[in-house]
Amino acid sequence: MKHHDHDHSRDRSFDDGPPSEHEIMSRAMQELLEAKGVITAEQLRRRMEQFDAEFPQRGARVIAHAWVDADFRQRLLVDGKRACAEWGIDLEADRLIAVENTPRLHNVIVCTLCSCYPRALLGMPPTWYKSENYRRRVVREPRAVLREFGTVIPEEVEVRVHDSNADMRYVVVPMRPAGTDGWSEERLASIITRDALVGVTVPDAKR
Ligand code: FE
Repeated sequence: MKHHDHDHSRDRSFDDGPPSEHEIMSRAMQELLEAKGVITAEQLRRRMEQFDAEFPQRGARVIAHAWVDADFRQRLLVDGKRACAEWGIDLEADRLIAVENTPRLHNVIVCTLCSCYPRALLGMPPTWYKSENYRRRVVREPRAVLREFGTVIPEEVEVRVHDSNADMRYVVVPMRPAGTDGWSEERLASIITRDALVGVTVPDAKR
């Protein structure tokens, strides 16, 4: 199902309002599958836990690898989905577009219509990502929204906002911070947060 085909006008107030259309749909689907004996609630819960446990921090590890391996970085930028497949990560969307931060460009990801998100890489989307507040405002006033995350992007750096959809997901490739020379991939991965891969923060070596 292309979930952008339907009306999103009732999705407002994801934060604490009534459940969205997606949530109701997903709950109804779950109840149906349980009622028909296809899955049990226990199986579903275990699968959700397994998702992160199988490969924790997968996004961070892929990006850390891109920081140390220029060839992989290039492959990731050319075809993100294929590069992730090298790690056994199956992106649910047709395309994954890796967008690279540079000294002149900072990238931020949003799904203005709902909450498309590279779940296979980053896990479940955070509540703020699904909020109407973020979805609407990050497009209009990205710098102000980033400041609320404690991220100040210098005026001379362009801020580019990428709108995800059902077929196309994005991940930000942050700049490797100064002071990380000689770090192992594992240590690099430890400073690459989910929020940095969405582009609302930047990695900090002193974390
Ligand atoms: Fe969406």
